[in-house]
Amino acid sequence: MAAKAQFSRRRFFSTAAALLGGWPFLSRLQGGRAVAPTVQRRGTQLVVSSANGLEAAKTTYRLMSRGSDTLEAAISGVNLVENDPDDMSVGYGGLPNEDGVVELDSAVMHGPTHKAGAVAALQNIKNPSRVAQLVLETTDHVLLVGKGALRFAKANGFKEEELLTKKSRERWLKWKRDLSRRDDWLSDDEEDRGIARKVARPTGTIHVAAMNSDGDISCVTTTSGLAWKIPGRVGDSPIIGAGLYVDNAIGSCGSTGRGEANLQNLCCFAAVELMRTGLAPEEAGLEVLRRVASHTTEKRLLDDQGRPNFGLKFYLIAKDGRYAGATMWGPSKFAVADRRGTRLEECAVLYQREN
Ligand code: ASP
Repeated sequence: MAAKAQFSRRRFFSTAAALLGGWPFLSRLQGGRAVAPTVQRRGTQLVVSSANGLEAAKTTYRLMSRGSDTLEAAISGVNLVENDPDDMSVGYGGLPNEDGVVELDSAVMHGPTHKAGAVAALQNIKNPSRVAQLVLETTDHVLLVGKGALRFAKANGFKEEELLTKKSRERWLKWKRDLSRRDDWLSDDEEDRGIARKVARPTGTIHVAAMNSDGDISCVTTTSGLAWKIPGRVGDSPIIGAGLYVDNAIGSCGSTGRGEANLQNLCCFAAVELMRTGLAPEEAGLEVLRRVASHTTEKRLLDDQGRPNFGLKFYLIAKDGRYAGATMWGPSKFAVADRRGTRLEECAVLYQREN
């Protein structure tokens, strides 16, 4: 309730600020320091998403067109994927940890209030993004983890359910059967000699960012994280600044891919800050990927040409309506919904895979 009241007070404030001269005026007022000037193209309603979010982007766009708040619309979009047993990277049917238990991470961020909510290592609840939303709306906290997050969800009426499907259980059992010398726990010896084996772990996550025609931006990231992870492992997705970040005066960034690299570089915060200096979304995304590449020094994470051997992608929106996907390895696509419809577009690429 309180949060809803806050949202509408804020909406009133932004409308007043717009009448007095638009967003640059507002950010000067708020920040004490002027942000780099950007061309304000008002009225750009836009959704960007990871490629598995085509339907989510469409739904988010449609809900915003009907007047829904940007965060509510984006969460409704990702709920479709959380509920989908065939998407094995998110919510119900997500690939489990090494004990065969699905553990979910999610964060939401609401641009107009600059508030965030997140849950990590949450078990048995299908829609972690909705729990993250309640953390934002009904608590003075940002992040709840593990048992505390579950208790909070149950107290709010969420039902506990088994999230492992037949398909995801079979994948987990196959991984267990293939274990032994193909695991990627690092022995000192293997790490020192740079011969630690790389185990291909399925990854996947959905990120959706939404900007309405008032220029308000919100976003959400939700995932079952790295498959077969050590129980309790928390990835980048529920960490504000890593898995997602919004500054309502500048833009937003969300991420999918190797969470550890993203956590070590706080990529989404960095990308939004680069946009603040005037970089276009595509340039900001590529610059952060270059930073990640230059900070990656362990041999087991590099290919024979010294490039990171993992995937990492960013989805970016700038306040002026520009947007981009940026990927460590291309070709790769991301989803967009705007007045021209819903589609996949090519990401800007740091390294191109040879076919
Ligand atoms: N970033 C997620 C994590 O590390 C995984 C992914 O996006 O594929 O938990």
